[in-house]
Amino acid sequence: QAKAAGRNAVRFFEPEMQARAEMRFTLETELRQAIDQNELRLYVQPQFDAERRMRGAEVLLRWHHPRRGLIPPASFIPIAEETGLIVELGDWVLHQACRLLTSPQMAGLPLRLSVNVSPRQFHRTGFVGRVRDILADTGADPERLTFEVTENLVIDKVHQTVATMSELNALGIRFSIDDFGTGYSSLSYLKRLPIDELKIDRSFVRDAPSDPNDAALVDAILSIAALLHIDVVAEGVETEEQAAFLAARAPMLYQGYLYARPEPVEAFLARLGGIPAAGCPSNGGDGPAL
Ligand code: C2E
Ligand code: MG
Ligand code: MG
Ligand code: MG
Repeated sequence: QAKAAGRNAVRFFEPEMQARAEMRFTLETELRQAIDQNELRLYVQPQFDAERRMRGAEVLLRWHHPRRGLIPPASFIPIAEETGLIVELGDWVLHQACRLLTSPQMAGLPLRLSVNVSPRQFHRTGFVGRVRDILADTGADPERLTFEVTENLVIDKVHQTVATMSELNALGIRFSIDDFGTGYSSLSYLKRLPIDELKIDRSFVRDAPSDPNDAALVDAILSIAALLHIDVVAEGVETEEQAAFLAARAPMLYQGYLYARPEPVEAFLARLGGIPAAGCPSNGGDGPAL
């Protein structure tokens, strides 16, 4: 029934689109079972201060697929977001993160954990209640939790965002704007929302030492943060040049391959065994796997 003019185009794209749709459907089906089948894992990437002391870490999800191998979040978080599976998945991640915070190896250490929260998860009715439940369940200290959200999460539903963030902030949870500078929002939300931290996007960090435009953007972000008394984390720091460029400008935390790659929880806990922490016995990361 296709018109002659469009037929070739349809024929040309059909198999590829079909294959992509099938793959997406397969992944969606498999993702529904992934939690129950214990295929999802938390990875953790430490964050350091200028003296290279660890201050916290970001939790990053991985899918260990029995046949497809390690699947990065970019390949399945969007599917989870579109299908609504992100709600269950996000609850699971937060629960695991809270368990990690209260694990014997981490409980006594002055370290924070950052958890990525996606728009659908955040805006879903009952989010605050579920966070409360998870905190109560695990006994985790909300003041050691940071939620990373993107600018795009904020712009859609500003009133709802203010309300939800304020409630969670009142519990003690901090908020960080992830990939700061890459979204579509105006800056006005920064004064309306309880934002505690900005994460300088990796793209600015990468080119700042060599590209004057990126350097100017980094300076602008640092000025905003300083004026509003907001903490800064630089993400994707890969080279000494980048670290030196940033360190010369303002105090901040550093996250990136130069310091540590995202690692399985077990490796992270083993790393904590080497941290001298006053009055806090550490068992060297041999605790139960999460
Ligand atoms: P993000 O939150 O901006 O996380 C930072 C990403 O940069 C991570 O990719 C991390 O592995 C990567 N990275 C860290 N240091 C470096 C570096 O020095 N160089 C380079 N090239 N990359 C670096 P990853 O783990 O693949 O995660 C991608 C995105 O998936 C995250 O971006 C986040 O938006 C999303 N994501 C991951 N875990 C979760 C989760 O549990 N929930 C939700 N909603 N989203 C998640
Ligand atoms: Mg993040
Ligand atoms: Mg980024
Ligand atoms: Mg980021």
